[in-house]
This record gives sequence, structure tokens and C-alpha cells, in this order.
Amino acid sequence: MPDSYPVVLVGAGPGDPGLLTVAGRHAIENAEVVLYDRLVGDDILALIPDAAERMDVGKRKGDHPVPQDRINQLILEQARSGKRVVRLKGGDPYLFGRGAEELDLLVENGIPFRIVSGVTSAIAAPASVGIPVTHRDHASSVHIVTGHGKDGSAPDIPFDALAGLHGTLVFLMGLSSIEHIANGLVAAGLDADTPAALVENGTLPWRRRLDGSLGTIATVATQEKVTAPAILVVGDVCRLASRYDPTEAAPLRGRRVLVVSSETTASRLATRLGDLGASVRSLAAIEMTPRPLPNAPFDHLRRFNWVVLTSRFASGLFLDELRRGRIDTRSLAGIRFAVVGAVTARPLADVGIYPDLQADDPSASGLAAALRDRVRKNDRVLLFRASVGDRSIDETLQQRGIDFVAVDAYDTTPRTDQWHGIADELAAGGFDAVTFTSASSVAAFADTVPVADLPEDAFQTFCIGAMTADAAKAAGLRPQTPQSANIDAMASLIRERLENA
Ligand code: SAH
Repeated sequence: MPDSYPVVLVGAGPGDPGLLTVAGRHAIENAEVVLYDRLVGDDILALIPDAAERMDVGKRKGDHPVPQDRINQLILEQARSGKRVVRLKGGDPYLFGRGAEELDLLVENGIPFRIVSGVTSAIAAPASVGIPVTHRDHASSVHIVTGHGKDGSAPDIPFDALAGLHGTLVFLMGLSSIEHIANGLVAAGLDADTPAALVENGTLPWRRRLDGSLGTIATVATQEKVTAPAILVVGDVCRLASRYDPTEAAPLRGRRVLVVSSETTASRLATRLGDLGASVRSLAAIEMTPRPLPNAPFDHLRRFNWVVLTSRFASGLFLDELRRGRIDTRSLAGIRFAVVGAVTARPLADVGIYPDLQADDPSASGLAAALRDRVRKNDRVLLFRASVGDRSIDETLQQRGIDFVAVDAYDTTPRTDQWHGIADELAAGGFDAVTFTSASSVAAFADTVPVADLPEDAFQTFCIGAMTADAAKAAGLRPQTPQSANIDAMASLIRERLENA
């Protein structure tokens, strides 16, 4: 049921999509426009309905962020236009998130709103690397402090007061002033040996914890090139980290893996590798943009007895189109559904459709092979797929003489905006392995990274599916592929090859 409030301020949690609240997810799934921040991850953005408008108001480095006044104004304008607005912010919206300030214009204009609190990084990020912010034997209070002054000025931190509290100190946005903070606490009387830790990208598969003390932590930050978002934790509880970090003795601890992704399958792989202790970096290689769809197939849905969907995105667009045309799902009775894999099936399951055919090998060619045995001469197939890419399904249907309509539902464009420095890092041996889950992500990688110039043994390459491996070979890589094309097998193979490498 859509929200009865025109504006919902939602905390997206600390990064791990599993830590988004149920209420937050519900609000996002019912939004008509979503204004989001830099810290909100792709998995959560993927919940935004494809028909809803997305507004990135926290542009990444290099681009200018939208000024705060403008954001406040945008929220008001969108609410006034009658749309259901979700304002999505990292962590909890009221903790150093300017959440309240963004509501001022709504208050002044009498527009109702609701808050969906989020799990804050201040507690969850330390927890994800083994640090409990309180513990009866170590700290009976926790104090959350911003390391950032108003409008970018130096922070005005009450060091004397903080030093006298004997609690855990958690500094957010403290990376650029870390030296100032550590020195300030020591000058206020804390021992330079007081344990301190930095948590980078807490709760995400590529999270890192760097240990030190007040005396060393600023140097650690520089040496280890810690980047935002990061949290500084100061206090005795940091000593407990190795005890409570679930990945402390994990098999891939210390291994670095670059997961090049185009679909949510890759984020499942990233999570699996993170659970095995690897330090995982995810790079989105592909951006998907919907195309205007032809009306004809939807006006005559009953003409078809198969609908074939080749990605989660294709499934989402198909369902959106039904909604837009107010086509009742009952009119799908008798139509069979074929999907590439579990990820493609998920949006369908949400509306109570369970596919009749799912490929064992979750790729277009895998589904083509499965369809070859299932479609019959008189079947009529509606195929939803990307405008450019693997054409095995089209070819199979053609060969079998099946009547089918293929819809170019969306475009895939390489996305290289976050790739700066990756080639250099790869050349310097910064990654033990690089993984690909689709041929298009290999292509995007090869467009950006000069593979031929890299040392041959710079990293191991892993691919899911024969098409992906072929693309990798063509790009000059030497891929290893698991026997079965699924995430479990891929994670096991990577573990086996990296554990003793
Ligand atoms: N409202 C947010 C905090 C916004 S301020 C919350 O409740 O979490 C932004 C700061 O949060 C960053 O500079 C960093 O210090 C911290 N932060 C957010 N996500 C983080 C993460 N996944 N890991 C480490 N620090 C994080």
C-alpha cells in the first residue's frame, strides 16, 4: 500500500542492503520520485521502481553536489507536484545527515512527512569489523562526534570533555581532520597508546579495519590510503575487534578481489567473497536505461503463450509496463514464463508469478539451450531483452521456426565513471583476482583497462559462463571458469585458487 504521506525521509542504513529497514524498503518501492545521496548503494537504488524518477543530489567526487538550499527546494517542488517523494539518506537521516534541515521548508509550507529511521553507520560499521561500541568491561558509554565543522571549517571538538568520559568515542566524517582529533585527545590527557581503529566502508563486503592507537592512527590512515566513508573509533573496545570479527580467521582474509559487475548477481558474489574474508571492491561496468516500449505486444498479450525475460531489469520493465497499461495479471493466465536465473525471477515472484523455466546456466545462451527443448512449433514467444548483447535466444527461436516478437527493452551503456586509477592499481598488483559475470562487463573493463600492458601474473581472472570466458579470452585475459555457472561454484573456485596462492 502506498504511503499516505507525500514525503518520506528514509534512512538507507550503513551500506549493507540487508540493513535497510522493512519500512524503508516499502517506502522506496512505492515512490514516484527518489532523491538520494552519495552513500546510498546500488543494491538499494535497484529497489526504486523503474518508472520512478531518480535524482542524484549528492554527486560523486569531481562533480559538484547539489547545494543544500536547492535540495530542500527540490523536495518541496516534487511534493507539490503531487508525487510520492522519498528522500533517501545514508545511515540514519537524523545523525549528521541534515535530515531535519531538509524538512524545514515542508514544515513551513504545511506539507506532511514521515521519518523512517535507519541503522546508523556509527554503530553498525564498527560492529561489522568486530568492534562492539560498548562492553561492560570496557566502555559503558558511547559518544558520537562529527569531525567536520559547519560549512567545511575545522571542527570545534570539546577534547577535554571527551577525554574525561572514559567511553568509546566514534568520529564520523573525521578522516580529513584525523591528526587534529588524535592530537587533541592526547593533549587533553588520553594516553597515546589508547587503542584506535579506522573502519572504511563498514558493513560492505569490501570493508576494512585498520588498527592503531591515538599515537599512530593518523599515520596508518595515510599509509593505508584510507578513503571515505570511514569512521574513527577510539577506546578500549577496539582491543576486542579480533575476538568478534567473524572474518578474522576466514580463508580469504587479506586477499583482494575486484568484482566487475553489471547485474545484481555480482553483488551476491561480492557478499559471498566478503563473507570468506576477502577484501572486495565492486565496480559497476554497465548502466541500464529503459527504452520506450512498443504498445503492440501489450495490447495483444494473449497472442503469446511464452514470455522470455533475460535479466532482472527486463523482468522489472515487463511488470512496469503491465502496471502502466493497467493490465491485470489474470490476463497472463496460460502464458508460460522463462527466465535466465533466480535474480531474473525475483521481481516476478514479488507479484506471485513463478517461472515455468529457469536456465541451469544463468546466461542468455543457457536459457536458449533450455528453451530449445521446451518450445513447440505453434508457440508464440514474447522476448524481452537488451537492445545489444547475446542473441542466442533469438537465434534458437529462429532456427526452430518459432513465431516470436523480440522487444529491445533497454540499452546497456558502459559506465566507467568510477574506474579512475583502477588500471594503475591492477598494474601495481593491487588485486589478487578480478571476476566477471557477463560478457558485457568484460567489454567495459577492456575498454578502460589496457590489458595488454599489464604484467601477465598481475591477477587471476575468473568468469561465470562460457560466453563471459570467451569475451575474456578475446580481451587477452586467461579466465578460469567454474564447472557450473552459478555463484556458489564461482565462490568455491575462487576460494580454492586464492586460499593457497
Ligand atoms: N547519517 C549517517 C552519517 C552521515 S555523515 C549515518 O547515520 O550513518 C557521513 C559519515 O558517516 C562518513 O563520513 C563516515 O564517517 C560515516 N559513514 C557512513 N557510512 C559508512 C560506512 N559504511 N563505513 C564507514 N563510515 C561510514
